[in-house]
Amino acid sequence: MTTTMLINRIKCSSILAKTGIALADYTINPFRGCGHGCLYCYAGKSKQALKKNLPWGSYLDIKNGAAEILDRELSALPPGKSIKVLLGSLTEPFQMPEEAHKTTGEILSVLSRHRIETVILTRSPLILNYSHILREGQYTVYVTLNSENIRAFFEQGTPSLKDKAAILKELPDNVRKTAYVSPFFPLLTDLDEILPHIEGVNAPVLIEVYNFLMGDNSRLFEKIPVNLREGLADIFKDEANYSSYIEKLGRELKNKLAGRDFKLFAPEFKKHWSESGSFYTS
Ligand code: SF4
Repeated sequence: MTTTMLINRIKCSSILAKTGIALADYTINPFRGCGHGCLYCYAGKSKQALKKNLPWGSYLDIKNGAAEILDRELSALPPGKSIKVLLGSLTEPFQMPEEAHKTTGEILSVLSRHRIETVILTRSPLILNYSHILREGQYTVYVTLNSENIRAFFEQGTPSLKDKAAILKELPDNVRKTAYVSPFFPLLTDLDEILPHIEGVNAPVLIEVYNFLMGDNSRLFEKIPVNLREGLADIFKDEANYSSYIEKLGRELKNKLAGRDFKLFAPEFKKHWSESGSFYTS
């Protein structure tokens, strides 16, 4: 987290947002912005972030009265209508200021009271402060993991791999969990470092390859070690190379994750690599 992060409370008129994401019917994002400012973050290129026109990672807007608004919105649903929500679809829902503001904690209490099936995306051990709510049985948590080099290259102030893996181990038993290796960077993400941390954890593994067309690649590219750029250029040069890399990765995962439930998700090939030898910045 940057030391100069601007924290604001902002007005919010609605909290549930309809979504086309397969995991849920609605999303909830208690914050705008994120103190971690990961260079690969898709949210850093969202309309909202571009409109804000401040460096990604330098601000956090907390939605005022989010829990009360959510309570009203859920109460207004037709009786008997069952919905599924995704908490933290855009940005991390358990950020440091949560310790003082408890915005996400209050949201969880409302979701529990209304018995809403909820999927949470997080990499923050702060979620464990709410284990008493999460053990109520309607929660699925995707814990985002990556190797330490990714943290060093592209993130600021995020928890270590060990601390993130510990979330999977310490969440209450009746929470459904997924070890979510994301974003997976070809040639950079070190699965051999990650997998021992989740050995013995009863959770499927989802590996999602980074979509270079969705991030802010100009800053990202500068951090990629020069000796790997050629290899990346080769993978993303054309559809044939990309497909053969993904197939090889699938085979490698089958070996490394033998006996475990896992899925590999890779975005469709689009032209990623520019003639000038870097990723398209779109
Ligand atoms: S922690 Fe998540 S939301 Fe925050 S900048 Fe990183 S990827 Fe984006």
